[in-house]
Amino acid sequence: MVKESVKHLNPYVPEQTLADLKSQYGLKKLVRLSANENAFGTSPEVAKALDKWHFSDANLYPDSNAEVLRKSIANRFGIDEDHLLFGNGLDEVIELLCRVILAPGDEVIDPALTFSEYQLHSQIEGAVIKRVALDNAGVLNLTAIKDQITARTKMIWLCNPNNPTGTFLAPTTIQSFLETVPESVTVIVDEAYIDFVGDKRASVIQLTKQFNNLVVLRTFSKAYGLANFRVGYAVCNPPLMSYLQATRLPYNLSTFAEIAATAAFKDTEFVNRVVETVVQERDKWHHFLMKQNLPFYESAANFIFFKAGDADRLHDYLLRNGYLVRNGLKTGWLRISIGKPEDNLAVQKLMADYFND
Ligand SMILES: *Cc1c(COP(=O)(O)O)cnc(C)c1O
Repeated sequence: MVKESVKHLNPYVPEQTLADLKSQYGLKKLVRLSANENAFGTSPEVAKALDKWHFSDANLYPDSNAEVLRKSIANRFGIDEDHLLFGNGLDEVIELLCRVILAPGDEVIDPALTFSEYQLHSQIEGAVIKRVALDNAGVLNLTAIKDQITARTKMIWLCNPNNPTGTFLAPTTIQSFLETVPESVTVIVDEAYIDFVGDKRASVIQLTKQFNNLVVLRTFSKAYGLANFRVGYAVCNPPLMSYLQATRLPYNLSTFAEIAATAAFKDTEFVNRVVETVVQERDKWHHFLMKQNLPFYESAANFIFFKAGDADRLHDYLLRNGYLVRNGLKTGWLRISIGKPEDNLAVQKLMADYFND
C-alpha cells in the first residue's frame, strides 16, 4: 500500500496548542519556551504592511517567484536573484532538497544530535543515514564527518548554530571543510539561528559564490518572528537551483507571507534589538547554569541545552508553574528558548528553588 521507507518513520512531533495545554493542566498563564519562537514578537511594520493588502486579491494566485521579497534579499546579500528559492517555511525547503537529491540507497551524513527533519526526509526518500556524534563540546565534528564520506554520499547536513546544542562553527572552519568535500556531495548549512550569533560575518552565504555544492538555508521564523507565516529560503547555484525550482510547488508562498517577510526583512532595527537582548539574556542564562553547576553547551542561538538530571520531573515542575520547555531530545537534557527578561528571571528563580530545596 505504501512505500517501504515510510513504514518506520519517527515523525516530527509538533507543539500542542497553548490553549490545549492550559486546559489540560488548569493553568491561567503559560509561556512557551520550547519552540525557539521569537519572544519579542515581530516587527510592527509587518502589521502595517499587511493592512495595505487588498482583500479583493484573495481570489488571485500569488506571485510564483515572490519577486518583491526576492529582490530585497538578493540586494542585501549581493547575490544573484536566481540563486534564491523560497519555501513554505524552511521545513518545505528541507523536504524539497531531499526529494530532489536523494534516491534509495544514497548516503546522507547527519550529525547526532541535530534538527530531526533532516533525518526524517532523508528516510522518506529511502536514503541510508550515517549519524556522526558531536564532539564533547556539543560542536559538529567535521573531521569525523569527513571520514564518513564514501562514493555513495550525496548530502551532508550542518546546522549552524546547531539545534539543539546552540554551538557555532566559524565560516572559515566551514570553508576549510568545503575545500575537502568532493563536489558530488551537497553540503547544506542550515542558518535558521544565524542572526543570534550577533556577528554579521557569521554566515556562509557568500561562500555559495565559490562552492557549487553548497546550499545555505534561512528562515523568517526565528529572529524575524514570523513562524506563523511560513517563509524560508535556500541560497545555491545552478544547476541544483534549476532542479529545485522545477520540483517545488508553484504557489508555495502566499502574497500575505511575502508581504510580511518583506516588511520584516526591511526592519533591521527590530531584528538588531531582538538580537541584542537575546545575547544579553543568553549570557545571564550561561551564568545562572554555571552557578547551579548544571552542565550546558555554550550557545550562539536563542536557546540553551542543559543537563537537568531528572529532566521529566523538571519539565513537569516548570509546566505546572506556567513555563513549557523542550524535553525528549536527549535523556536527562532540556532545551529552553530564551524568553523575555522577566520570564527568564522567573524560570531561573523557579529552577533555583527546585535545585536548592
Ligand atoms: C525552526 C527550524 C527550522 C524550520 O523553520 P521554518 O521556517 O519555521 O520551517 C529549520 N531548521 C532549524 C534548525 C530550525 O530550528
